[in-house]
Amino acid sequence: AKADGSAQLQVFAPELRAEMEARRRLVADLHDALARNEFELYFQPIVDCRRKTVSGFEALARWAHPQRGMVSPAEFIPVMEEAGIIGALGRFVLREGCRQAARWPSDLSISLNLSPLQFKSPTLLADVRNALSSSGLSPDRLHLEVTESLFLDDAEGVLQTLQSLRQMGLVVSMDDFGTGYSSLGYLSRFPFDKIKIDQSFVRDMARPENIAIVRAVMGLGSAMRMTVVAEGVETVEQMEQLEREGCREMQGYLFSRPRPAGDLPKMLMEIRSR
Ligand code: C2E
Ligand code: CA
Ligand code: CA
Ligand code: CA
Repeated sequence: AKADGSAQLQVFAPELRAEMEARRRLVADLHDALARNEFELYFQPIVDCRRKTVSGFEALARWAHPQRGMVSPAEFIPVMEEAGIIGALGRFVLREGCRQAARWPSDLSISLNLSPLQFKSPTLLADVRNALSSSGLSPDRLHLEVTESLFLDDAEGVLQTLQSLRQMGLVVSMDDFGTGYSSLGYLSRFPFDKIKIDQSFVRDMARPENIAIVRAVMGLGSAMRMTVVAEGVETVEQMEQLEREGCREMQGYLFSRPRPAGDLPKMLMEIRSR
């Protein structure tokens, strides 16, 4: 058995080593990217379909890589979390997001994504307070999005942080709802203000199972007084179907892709004239 094991190791070792090396280089590049301020925020409107207005924008991180162009967060967020360097990015997003939103019309909110590590950081509340006071942004305009993976451990600590954030006047959203663990139980125990239906349920709304899920989430939202936002709305058919289910807030390529801060006035105008 021992001989077999080492033979296998020899077969896989070069590939594995190359992969580890690529990973090591990516982490080093991400360190440099933080030092050189290569990260920026793109913004995607969240639309109130009934009133045909923009209720706010979600900020989505981008890495402006000097050679590769804009790199998607799907590529660097998980790596930064695993390497333990997500904290610096999280603080940048918080500071920069609040700074930008403070210059918008005051009826617009900003939604920021928090990684579980950032949510559990002992400095989170102080970071939030600092970002609010240095920008002058009113706390009720700051919405924080967290995912169900938050609940993998330490539910008690999570509950306390959620309560502190809401006492400060912030809005807290459960992101990617329906894709994670035992979400129903958590929703009843934890004080969220908003639920975001994951785009996987919106994408194929022709499937009866997905309509049933959307309907169930809408029911849950109204019973628990939580706003429901549908993500990944790409077609008029999806929008109309969601409207029939009573969903009012939507986000997706149908309205706009995430775009740089300079495009904000254009996005507002385009949605108003739809
Ligand atoms: P998310 O929070 O669920 O964000 C929504 C993602 O769906 C975004 O991808 C957005 O560009 C994309 N999207 C929006 N509308 C549509 C649509 O109609 N169709 C399709 N197919 N996609 C749509 P993005 O920007 O690549 O971000 C991916 C994920 O990376 C985010 O998912 C979030 O989990 C994470 N992320 C982004 N920015 C940050 C950040 O600042 N901090 C943390 N911790 N995570 C972030
Ligand atoms: Ca989000
Ligand atoms: Ca989401
Ligand atoms: Ca997602």
